[in-house]
Amino acid sequence: MKKYLLTIGFTIATIAFSQNIQIVPLGVYGGSNESNLSSYLIAEESTNNYLALDAGTIYSGINKAIENGTFNEDQNKILRDYIKGYFISHGHLDHLSGMIINSPEDSNKPIYGISETISVLKNKYFTNDAWANFANEGESPILNKYYYKNAEIGTPFTIEGTNFTGTIYELSHVNPLKSSAILVENDSNAVLYFGDTGADRIEETKNLTTIWKAITPKIKSGKLKTLMLEVSFSNSQPEKLLFGHLTPKLINEELGELGKQVGKNKLKGLTIIVTHIKPKGDNEEKIKEELLKYNPYKINYIFPKQGEKIVLK
Ligand SMILES: [Zn+2]
Ligand SMILES: [Zn+2]
Repeated sequence: MKKYLLTIGFTIATIAFSQNIQIVPLGVYGGSNESNLSSYLIAEESTNNYLALDAGTIYSGINKAIENGTFNEDQNKILRDYIKGYFISHGHLDHLSGMIINSPEDSNKPIYGISETISVLKNKYFTNDAWANFANEGESPILNKYYYKNAEIGTPFTIEGTNFTGTIYELSHVNPLKSSAILVENDSNAVLYFGDTGADRIEETKNLTTIWKAITPKIKSGKLKTLMLEVSFSNSQPEKLLFGHLTPKLINEELGELGKQVGKNKLKGLTIIVTHIKPKGDNEEKIKEELLKYNPYKINYIFPKQGEKIVLK
């Protein structure tokens, strides 16, 4: 009986403590400051089994997280053991340079991405001219540290070393350049992370509409409550000069589209973690002000800080 109760107690504890999702930003900006570029570690709250969502900055971000008391381990252990793999949204340097530079010290792990991203890594960065081939395909000598996991669009797959399932969707980042988003979920919660993306209207694509339709059931059921979405420029940026990025105005335009699918009321209380702000002049302040001032769907906006953990309830 005692043993039986112990088992029940343990099971309840596991259910109660393992399901919330935590995010540790290693880098939050979309340019300029090379010590703080797009990278977010995501794990279940009670574990240290993280997937890195992009990898613009790794080393400086881990150090900042240690400084802040988010991590209590040495730098190398976090890089090698905590990070179980990388999702790289697209081939731009501000999303992957931290991974390349730290590859000599890293351990064996998968890199998830769409075929376009993997081919950039294979043909442009993990080459003898640019660095060395730390991956498992491409130029010789092949060092076989990272292994490419080419994800099929819209098909769920297991994220190794975690309890998460991932589903990758295509984005447009100055049509026809492709970027991607990943839905990360466990049994009870989900987070949708977007790489760089333009709005459907500007890009003349239907990628975001496709995603809104795909995630509608998960928003309606309450499983998906958090989007990590880029807002690179303020509303003053001319639409001709967006280079495949979003503004507060375009976020609201796209939320309107999502609202058509799920119903406006279901958007209320949705959390958006704002990523990829370009830290130039007063751009950051302007973006924050514009998002908070005109917030017709009552979104809970979070502006992440490097090294500061966010727990999603
Ligand atoms: Zn970027
Ligand atoms: Zn980009």
